[in-house]
Amino acid sequence: MKPRPGRLPFARRIPLMPEPVGMVLNVLVVSAAIVLVRVAWLGAVVFRRRRKGLCVKCGYPIEASAPRCPECGSAYPASAVQSRA
Ligand SMILES: [Zn+2]
Repeated sequence: MKPRPGRLPFARRIPLMPEPVGMVLNVLVVSAAIVLVRVAWLGAVVFRRRRKGLCVKCGYPIEASAPRCPECGSAYPASAVQSRA
């Protein structure tokens, strides 16, 4: 079948070989999106744990008398400890 003038044949319209520049741009854009979603997710987890008075590292409830998390042993600032009066 002879292609119509002005149109590429069907086999020429489908990209069968990777476009190097497009492939690199796709990898960069998708990687950046994955990193941004991950950072936003971790930021939301830290924010939620601080707001609820939990250990930022493991999520265990912080005790006011302990300078370190009783579950994972990570130190937390005194400002993070909420009084449970
Ligand atoms: Zn902990």
